Amino acid sequence: MQVPKPADRLRFGPAGVPHRAKGKDIIQALKIVKELGLDAMELEFVRGIWLKPEKAQIVRRVAEELDIWLTAHAPYYINLAAKEEAKIEKSIRYIVESARVLHLAGGWSVVFHPGWYMKRSPSLVYEKVKQALSRVIEILKQEGIDVWIRPETMELKSRFGNLDEVIRLSQELDMVLPCIDFAHLRYREGWNSKEHFRYILEKIENELGRFALDNMHIHISGIKLDKRGTHLNLNESDLRWREILEVLKEFNVKGVVISESPNLEEDGMMMRDYWLKINKITA
Ligand SMILES: [Zn+2]
Repeated sequence: MQVPKPADRLRFGPAGVPHRAKGKDIIQALKIVKELGLDAMELEFVRGIWLKPEKAQIVRRVAEELDIWLTAHAPYYINLAAKEEAKIEKSIRYIVESARVLHLAGGWSVVFHPGWYMKRSPSLVYEKVKQALSRVIEILKQEGIDVWIRPETMELKSRFGNLDEVIRLSQELDMVLPCIDFAHLRYREGWNSKEHFRYILEKIENELGRFALDNMHIHISGIKLDKRGTHLNLNESDLRWREILEVLKEFNVKGVVISESPNLEEDGMMMRDYWLKINKITA
């Protein structure tokens, strides 16, 4: 099996087009990401897969020239454990189509929200999610699409996607690795200290191998402890993001960190700056 290119370092970028590029073309947005000194960007397909194949090939060329790594966030409507078969089929299609267009754009990793328990047992829901996800992988393999497929750790206890579940899917299916959303884990499990952050990374290393730490897809933002886990800017929240970065350094993690804060690129740059500082790299 072909695997995506190995990550060369830890990269930082915004979840979607930076605010200062809003209303501009995706190509302009990539140039702005570059000007800000960021080196990754997530294509937000959360409300629909807007990037067309012809354009994706142009995106690929520009992103390669600018050395920006692309990830994608598949649509929010996905539920691989839906009770209706038609909804599962649609969910499979959303992930496959996100992966196809990201692959055309030369991208690296697709993240998605796996689904909901809907008052059923976690083990039953696990089997449903795994079954559907294995069909996604089968299609992508047939098409020769080598991007990582990443179930995300989710904030709400009513949603499938605790750390154990996303790790187990990654053990049992090819092409699958977790997307670790530290804000969601802070909300779901209360994990907000260095000990907790080390626990997460140790578990990934022990259960998935060093390879997984060398190729991480990470989401970081502030988060409010309200009913739905509203995202906040890092400086308005209690998330110990500096300590997250310090632990990422301890474990020599590589891959992509996406800022999902409302201010997008601002927190992306703030994290990048701190990362360079603790690694003593002068820009
Ligand atoms: Zn997400």
